[in-house]
Amino acid sequence: MEKIFVVGAGTMGNGIAQTAAVSGFQVTMMDVDASQLEKAHETIKKSVEKLFQKEKITAEAKEGAQAIQTTTTLEGIEEAELVIEAATEKLELKKKIFQDLDLKASPGAILASNTSSISLTQLAAVTSRPDKVIGMHFMNPVPLMKLVEVIRGLDTSDETARAVMEVARKMGKTPVESADSPGFISNRILCPMLNEAVFALQEGVGTAEAIDEVMKLGMNHPLGPLALADLIGLDVVLSVMEVLQADLGEDKYRPAYLLRKMVAAGHLGRKSGRGFYNYE
Ligand code: NAD
Repeated sequence: MEKIFVVGAGTMGNGIAQTAAVSGFQVTMMDVDASQLEKAHETIKKSVEKLFQKEKITAEAKEGAQAIQTTTTLEGIEEAELVIEAATEKLELKKKIFQDLDLKASPGAILASNTSSISLTQLAAVTSRPDKVIGMHFMNPVPLMKLVEVIRGLDTSDETARAVMEVARKMGKTPVESADSPGFISNRILCPMLNEAVFALQEGVGTAEAIDEVMKLGMNHPLGPLALADLIGLDVVLSVMEVLQADLGEDKYRPAYLLRKMVAAGHLGRKSGRGFYNYE
């Protein structure tokens, strides 16, 4: 594989595009929002400069990242052997995107999704190539985190799974397989903990700072749960909790009301400048 087309240039899309490009793939990054593409380009430029200064990447890898193409349409997608979708976490939106990708991408291309919780089987079912649809769940921040959770839909072929694991390894990541179950392994465990931290804040068990300090100093977490929720994006955490609650059918997964209020107010965490902490 040589060419990767990344759909969505937000928090995850730009990290995936950067990591693929510094690993030697030719990358095109697409977003419907041109301002997101500009922001992504700036983020990548700063990130690769920092990695180059720290001698973590070569000059050639830095140039590879600077050569990432950007577009607001699916133009050029037919050349890609792998498409990685990292658009907003909404089932209906992703279904529509997968229908479009299926129509426009080369028939042999693999269509991967970076979804945090949506069923790969459901996304595969809207395409004519369910054997070539798979989850490639990167972690945030993508250039630094080692894991790629690989999720097969019901009809994903062994060949597709093997191919994306090879791509993940070429990107310097370690692929680990999870079943196509709500939230997979990572978010089935992580998001309820983040949601519980929001409940604790809502009920006055502690301040945001106290909750995060307890988990950092007491449990050796590198980041407190509220700071981590801000990093992930509160809208993403809310969407994952909604999927867990709906698909596992248990009340213990209900999203904290404060989480809903923060998202409704547009306080999405780092990406909007304000979440449980202020980043402005
Ligand atoms: P984000 O809100 O930062 O970015 C989403 C991007 O998708 C935006 O730039 C938006 O303009 C774009 N978009 C919306 N509709 C589109 C379309 N039709 N075509 C192309 N682009 C479109 O979100 P994010 O945090 O980068 O999340 C992206 C995906 O990655 C989600 O599925 C999320 O669950 C998953 N994910 C997120 C994290 C995290 O820590 N944030 C971690 C792992 C996986």
